Amino acid sequence: MLFLDFNLNPSIIKAIEDQKYEKPTPIQEKAIPSILSGKDLLGCAQTGTGKTAAFAMPILHMLSKDSINQRECNQIRALVLAPTRELAIQIGESFETYGQHLNIQIGVIYGGVTPKRHIKVLKREPNILVATPGRLLDLSEQVYVDLSSIEIFVLDEADRMLDLGMIKDVKTIISKLPKVRQNMLFSATMPKEISKLIHSILRNPVKIEVKSNLTDERDIKQQVYFIDEPDKTSLLLHLLKDKSFESVLVFVRTKIKADKVSKAINIANIRTKAIHGDKNQSERLKALELFKNKEIRVLVATDVAARGIDIEKLSHVVNMDIPNIPETYIHRIGRTGRAGMGGTAVSFCSSQETAFLKDIEELQGGSIEVMEI
Ligand code: AMP
Repeated sequence: MLFLDFNLNPSIIKAIEDQKYEKPTPIQEKAIPSILSGKDLLGCAQTGTGKTAAFAMPILHMLSKDSINQRECNQIRALVLAPTRELAIQIGESFETYGQHLNIQIGVIYGGVTPKRHIKVLKREPNILVATPGRLLDLSEQVYVDLSSIEIFVLDEADRMLDLGMIKDVKTIISKLPKVRQNMLFSATMPKEISKLIHSILRNPVKIEVKSNLTDERDIKQQVYFIDEPDKTSLLLHLLKDKSFESVLVFVRTKIKADKVSKAINIANIRTKAIHGDKNQSERLKALELFKNKEIRVLVATDVAARGIDIEKLSHVVNMDIPNIPETYIHRIGRTGRAGMGGTAVSFCSSQETAFLKDIEELQGGSIEVMEI
């Protein structure tokens, strides 16, 4: 199948060609025709599968067709909710990329910056609004944002919203939307609370599942070193001597550890930055930009800070600790091997973490290669 087969607006096809995408990814193949036919969608998929484009392209197409709705064009017609500011920014960038040859305004609003800036964004009258739930709710309560003309609603990474305690805000926002609208919900996992939410918002959705076993779909090599906790930083520094560790995202459990590890890497003369919840928005964006531009080789992050990070050609993901929730491991390693490119996920497992590793292997249905130190 080719992108041309979807009969998308030629301006979108041109943007896809600019991106040099050869063909749709499996989720795009399935989702784009369903969304274009006006159906609700339930996507069981994670980042790295091309899911953002799977909803962004058809939404841009539908909004570019004046005939779809003769309303005035200065209203918000599509709303996308994302759990973190980084993800919201990246979704906004995707809309900008695929819609670069169209005349559709895109606005992105998120917490952590002054509300003034977002009031400015809203004054530009976006047709598509990408937002984190908390900030959107604040602004809608202050009547800065009018949600009454939303035709399309997307809830991205619903399971992460649940983890981050955002579901109540999400429900409040949904209650403010027009009753008749097209809905899409994406979630990598389907905990009970999310299943309930699905039943309350989606009408006869088309269900699309892209397999969670990343190694089946993408070329991600997974390795584990068994090592005592105090020796983990030395092992990381040793591995970083290998030049094939070109662009490395290191996951740690706590903010303190993120700072400590990044300090140790910097002392070893390897440029690095840490991102976590105590860093302000501009520090986080700056660190991401330096990492994307390859000005720093290593980025040390906590799970929440790293949510939604989309960096092409990330060679390695290093888990300095083994997450106790196996899905978190899947989310983490999904940062590498994106859209068909290979990558390596290296994990450091102490004797206290072997049970977590077992859970991960069970979820994936296979054991991870053990490396000798
Ligand atoms: P996502 O799953 O939305 O986070 O997308 C992961 C990455 O895949 C992004 O960097 C996209 O630019 C890229 N991508 C999306 N669709 C395609 C495609 N059809 N071919 C190649 N790369 C793609």
